[in-house]
Amino acid sequence: MRAGVYRGPGKVGLVERPLPEPGPGEVRLRIGACGLCGTDLHMVHSPSPIIEPGSTMGHEMAGIVDDLGPGVRGFAAGESVVVEPLASCGDCEPCRDGRDSICRKLQLYGLRRPGGFADAVVVPAHRLYRAPRSLPAPSASLAEPFAVAVHGLRLADAGSVTPPARLLVLGAGTIGLAVVAVARAWGFGYVATTARYPHQARLAKQLGAHDVIDAGAGEDLSGFDADLVVETVGGLADTMSPAGIALAPGGTICILGVFTGLLTLDPLMLLGKEARLQWSNCYARRPGQEDFAEAVRILAGAGDGCAGLLTHQVPLDEIERAFEIAGDKRSGAVKVTVIP
Ligand SMILES: [Zn+2]
Ligand SMILES: [Zn+2]
Repeated sequence: MRAGVYRGPGKVGLVERPLPEPGPGEVRLRIGACGLCGTDLHMVHSPSPIIEPGSTMGHEMAGIVDDLGPGVRGFAAGESVVVEPLASCGDCEPCRDGRDSICRKLQLYGLRRPGGFADAVVVPAHRLYRAPRSLPAPSASLAEPFAVAVHGLRLADAGSVTPPARLLVLGAGTIGLAVVAVARAWGFGYVATTARYPHQARLAKQLGAHDVIDAGAGEDLSGFDADLVVETVGGLADTMSPAGIALAPGGTICILGVFTGLLTLDPLMLLGKEARLQWSNCYARRPGQEDFAEAVRILAGAGDGCAGLLTHQVPLDEIERAFEIAGDKRSGAVKVTVIP
C-alpha cells in the first residue's frame, strides 16, 4: 500500500509499505479520508523533530472496516467508522476513568504509531466509532477536530450546565470553527469569534457565529464580558492577554491552542476576575460522555452544514502538495483532506 511519511525536517513523501494485518482485538480500515492538521504541519516543520523519519502521519481518519483481527466483535466489514487516534496504557487511574488523553503513556496514531495518510491503517477496535453512511468520508474525518472542541467545552463545564450566555472563540481555523459549530449545536445563545482571514469570517457566520471580530484590527475587547473564552490559536500567539481582557468576572478561559513558547498573562487582571484557566488535550471517553460519539452526532446532524470547512481535497499521491496548501496562509485553506 501507499503511505505518506515524514522524511526529516520540512519533508514528506510517499512510500510503499506492506498492507498491515490486524492482530487480536484490532481492525484494518481502508482509509476514505484523512485530515491534515496544524499539528502535522508543526511536526514536519519543527527544527527539532518530534517524530521519527519514516513514520506514517495523519490522525484525522475516516474509513471503511476492511478486515477484523481475532476476537473482534461488534464490527463488520464494510461499516463506516472514524478513529479516536489515541493509544494509552488502559491501566492507570485516568485511563480507567476514560481520560486517556492524560495517561502518562499516551501515544497518537499518526505520530508514534502509523497513521492515516495511507491506503489502510490498523487500529484497536475499541478506538472506532461508527459513522452514518450518509456522512461522506471527508466530513466524517472532521470528527477528530470536532471531538477536540467537544472535549474542551465539556472540561469548561459548558455541556452539563446552562450554556454560558456569552462565548468568545479566539481563532477561526478548523478548531475555532469546530468550537463555533459545537457551541451552536448545544444551543449557546451568543457565540463570537475572532478571524484573521475573510474566508474564515465567512465560514464562522455560516456555522452560526453571531459576531466575527477582525483579529488584525486590534479591537478593544474590554467590556466584552465573555463567560467563556476558548483559545484555539496557540503557537507563539499573544492571545492570552486579550482572552483575559475579554473575560467576564468569574469566567473561564479554555485553552485548545498548542502553545510552543511561554505565555504572557496579566495575573492581576485574572486575579481580579477570579478567572479559571482550563487546558484541554485531545478527547476523552468517560462513560456516557464519549467525545468522538458526540462529535459524530453533531456532524451527522449538520448534514452538509459543516462541509464548508473542507476547503481542499488532495489525492494521497500528492501528499507533498497537501502540506504546501495547508502551510500557505494565502491558499484560503481551512481543512486540507488527503484522499487515498
Ligand atoms: Zn489534528
Ligand atoms: Zn493510562
